[in-house]
Order: sequence, then C-alpha cells, then structure tokens
Amino acid sequence: MTERFTGSFTQQEPIPKDGIQAAMRVLQHGRLHRYNVAEGEVGETALLEQEFAAYTGARFCLAVASGGYGMATALRAVGVKPADTVLSNAFTLAPVPGAIASLGAKVVFVGVTEGLTIDLDDLAGKIGQAKVLLLSHMRGHICDMDALMAICDDAGVIVIEDCAHTMGGGWNGLMSGRHGAMAAYSCQTYKHMNSGEGGLLITDDEELAARAVMLSGSYMLYDRHLASPAPEVFERIKYDTPNISGRMDNLRAAILRPQLRNLDAQVGRWNERYQVIEAGLRDTPGLQVIEREAAEQYVGSSIQMLLLGWSADKVGDVIARCAARGVELKWFGGEEPVGFTSTYRSWRYADAPVMPESDRILAGIVDMRVPLTFSLTDCALIARIIRAEVSAVYQSQL
Ligand SMILES: *Cc1c(COP(=O)(O)O)cnc(C)c1O
Repeated sequence: MTERFTGSFTQQEPIPKDGIQAAMRVLQHGRLHRYNVAEGEVGETALLEQEFAAYTGARFCLAVASGGYGMATALRAVGVKPADTVLSNAFTLAPVPGAIASLGAKVVFVGVTEGLTIDLDDLAGKIGQAKVLLLSHMRGHICDMDALMAICDDAGVIVIEDCAHTMGGGWNGLMSGRHGAMAAYSCQTYKHMNSGEGGLLITDDEELAARAVMLSGSYMLYDRHLASPAPEVFERIKYDTPNISGRMDNLRAAILRPQLRNLDAQVGRWNERYQVIEAGLRDTPGLQVIEREAAEQYVGSSIQMLLLGWSADKVGDVIARCAARGVELKWFGGEEPVGFTSTYRSWRYADAPVMPESDRILAGIVDMRVPLTFSLTDCALIARIIRAEVSAVYQSQL
C-alpha cells in the first residue's frame, strides 16, 4: 500500500486561550490604537515591547506593522538614502530586497553556500561596495556570526539582521538579532508568533531606537513606550525624522504576549519535528541534508534539502510525485516566481549580475514548511514519502 499524508501544510495552531481572552478585553474597551490609553493604563503594545526587549536582552524594542516595515525602518534609521547600495542575501524572500528598494536604494546580492547561509568569501569580496548589510537568516540558517561581524566591523559596515526565521534561535549562545546594530522580526501568520501581520525591531543604540520610534509614527507620544530611550534622545532627532506610519496596535500585541511566553517551548516542539524529518531524509541517495553548525541554535520551523546537479525536470518530478502523496514541497530553483519562492533573478528591478555558483545551489533547494500541527508520526511519514520519491526519480536518471 502506498502511504499518503493527509494533513495541511498551512494550518497553524489556534491562538492560545489567554491570547484570545486578552484580545477580547481590548475589543471590549475599544482602545486599539497603541497611544489610546486610559489614565494610568499601560497599553498592550508597550508591554509587548518591554517583554520582547527582556526576552532578547536588547535595550530597546519597537513593535511595528510587519517584518518588512521593520527592515525598511531599520535601513532608514541607520541613514540609508536613495541611490545608496545595500548588501543582502541572494537567497532570501522578496520582502528583503523589497525593503531596500522601498528606500530607493540599490541591492548588491551576496551569494549562498551549500549550508544555505551567506557566502562569507563573497561578502568579503563585495564589502567595499556598501555601508550597510541587510543580513537575512533565510529559512533559519545562521552563518558563522563571529566571522561575519569581523568582516563587517573591519570594513565599518553596519549590520541589520532579518530574523523572520530565527526568532528564538541564536549563534554561540547569543540570541539571533543581537549581533548587528538592529534586527527585525516578523509576527506574520507563517512565522514563530502569529498575529496575522506584525513585526518587532530591536537595538541597543539609543539614537537608532529613537529614530525608529519616530519613523513608525509616534507623533510626540514616545513617553508612552516602556522600551524606548529617554526623552532627551528624542529631542535630538525629532525635527529631522519623518513620520512613516507603521505602528502595531493593541489587539495584535494582546495576541502576541502569551505567545512570547510560550516561544521557547514552541522552539523545542519545532526542533523535535525537524529532527525526525531530518533523520528520515539523511543518506537518501541524490539528496543532501543541510548540516548545522554546533554553534547554531536553530528553529526548525521549515526544512530544506538539496538536490544538487539535478535537472529542472527531475526536481519537478519529485515535487509532483510528493504532491500526489500529500506532501507539499517548494522549489527555489524555478525560472518563474511561484508562491513565496523566487530567486534574485526574479527581482529584475535590482538588475543583479548572474551568480553562477549561487545559481547552482539555488537550483537544488527544495523547501518544506513544518507547522506545529504536525505530529511526530506525521513527520516520520512525510520523510518516508520524500525519501521514496527522491529515490525513485534518482534511480530513473542513473
Ligand atoms: C516573512 C519574511 C519577512 C517579512 O515579514 P513580513 O512580516 O511578511 O513583512 C522578511 N524576511 C523573510 C526571510 C521572511 O520570510
């Protein structure tokens, strides 16, 4: 009998009960705007910022409308101007080069390794081309952050981290997002905390924090924040920082606060699932699992595998055969962007030169979501299906 998987790859867990109750309280009192607070009341958004700052160990935190907005705000806060160049990953998702393009700046792509992290040799070669690196920890793969920071610090390049897939992860004991000058996280439905849309921005730098708060649309109400710099810092920047509204609201923050309390436990559950799938895929002929560094504290909310050297047709066969058995795989090597997968070549506004070594790797990247609604038994079944179909197609091409 051919095994089939019947679960959904896009079904999230429900919002925790205390999140629903907190959301109901906000709906009942009606004060959804973050600055709309009663006398003596502290809003949910300000509390979320305080709690996320404490969770990451950052001095300052700002909650915003999306992860993409957080990245663009960070780029503005560090002073990126139209026509500036910004270094970023060739392997990432569209909102990353999009954040750079939203400022009228130009992206210079840096290649990807077989570990699916940024290619540090390529970075070192291009480091003189920009003053800022928007580093995307794409699909939760964290490069050697000590080596990366040494390259960037030597060159005076400011690092902004895109932690959409590493919330709760870390490198060498330091939380992901704590190496660079600023870091942006996403609270969109498919990330590690779910408020539909939303984002968080952290930094230790008081001037960057103040600029980000002003940029997000604080008017002059920044004293209602709990994880922001002192008023005198705002005095220095308030006349030359535009308001580009992108605040979070109290309803979303109410939903997120209980999820933050539960985040470490969720990370553990993701990694259990990830490890079952990885173990089931290891040593499949023709398939390469992505090896993790010991220093990498990853969050296995998705899993990637490499079908290196395979033709597009054969990768397509694997994806179709797995889909026929209920397993949804995505491919990053396609010529046309499909769903959330696209490559640097699809972002034609960036006008990037061809990167043959990255193209070779991108052409082999197969990607799968690991929702927490999967059981460990589901994960073992999914791995058996992928293994069988990869093996069948691989043998047919020998
Ligand atoms: C989702 C995502 C973002 C942006 O998050 P939004 O909240 O959707 O704007 C940024 N980078 C990566 C790698 C992402 O997957």
